Amino acid sequence: MNNKLDLILNDSNLKPEFRQIAKKVLDGKRITEEEGVFLFEKGELSYLGALANYIREKKHGDNTYFNRNFHLEPTNVCLYSCTFCSYSRLIKKREDGWVYTMDEMMDIIKKYDDEPVTEVHIVGGVLPQYDLKFYSELFQNIKKHRKELHIKALTPVEYHYIFKKGKVSYAEGMKMMKEAGLDSMPGGGAEIFHPEIRDQIAGGKCTGDQWLEIHEEWHKLGMRSNATMLYGHIEEFKHRIHHLEELRKLQDNTGGFQTFIPLKFRNKGNQMSHVPEVTIVEDLRNYAISRIYLDNFDHIKAYWPMISRNTAQIALAFGVDDIDGTIDDTTKIYTMAGSEEQNPAMSTEELVSLIRRVGRKPIERDTLYNVITDYTDHVFEEDNHYRGYVSLPVVNK
Ligand code: SF4
Repeated sequence: MNNKLDLILNDSNLKPEFRQIAKKVLDGKRITEEEGVFLFEKGELSYLGALANYIREKKHGDNTYFNRNFHLEPTNVCLYSCTFCSYSRLIKKREDGWVYTMDEMMDIIKKYDDEPVTEVHIVGGVLPQYDLKFYSELFQNIKKHRKELHIKALTPVEYHYIFKKGKVSYAEGMKMMKEAGLDSMPGGGAEIFHPEIRDQIAGGKCTGDQWLEIHEEWHKLGMRSNATMLYGHIEEFKHRIHHLEELRKLQDNTGGFQTFIPLKFRNKGNQMSHVPEVTIVEDLRNYAISRIYLDNFDHIKAYWPMISRNTAQIALAFGVDDIDGTIDDTTKIYTMAGSEEQNPAMSTEELVSLIRRVGRKPIERDTLYNVITDYTDHVFEEDNHYRGYVSLPVVNK
């Protein structure tokens, strides 16, 4: 029994609508779209946090997951011009950007030959020369060089483009990618599915329905993927819930999603710089409601390069159980949008310490959440201070 949730349910001042939702959470029942919008409109942080943390601890206890990974961003030149994007350089201004050749990409992969990384995360702009053949060769080359490295690569934005250009269906295309060595798909490119918003911020690239269809085809092959939502710009709460509902429905059908990753809109250096960023309180509310709504998703991730280390730590009490990976300063997507982390990289020891300092258990996982190392009682060689995991006292027992 969760004490905070008990306290909430026993509070005689609690309004019936909030009591009903809390009871549903306690009974493991699903909340409706109307209740989701209601939580966004009226839910206070402490109430949402208690519900989300209850679910998080029921699913994972104190376990908090991370991995050792690096990013490969083939280019920041892009055919599209999403208004929230601080990363891309339009083709006509490509001298400001980078476009790696196959050899340059393989040199980046080889740089990690002696490192204990388990995953390469590949994502970048959309360019005509990076077509079906190119990416098939890239995946094959990576596997030829380092078979065990998990390739988590590209989003439906790229896949929609290269499959259309290559005149193959989504089903055929995803099968080809799997045969070339693709292991899983990251969650990017989802933004906000609802066309009222998507057409304004990401017009021209794949629609919300197409994004979902490509993931569905991938799941049908028995493969796994993640999902994101870009929040905190011009969308309304009803659009966020519509987005979560679409994901929940697909997950009911396929069960192929592993993790949901809310991505905060940052306003530096893009066409929406006039739109203010939401507060940290709103970030935490959004994590918590995502955890409550997506009852069929195993994991909720706080992507620390976007949200900062400190907020990622706090998020662990608001439904989050994963904080991504070491990254090694290999992504520019959020640094170019003005995130606090301008050179995002953490050693394993730093990540472990970050998780321990808020009383959670650091678990290194691979991309598919197989446990690699439980760092709960691990003592690093140069660590003179750490004396094992201490369970925090439970108050109000
Ligand atoms: S968000 Fe992606 S698709 Fe849109 S402009 Fe940026 S790099 Fe291109």
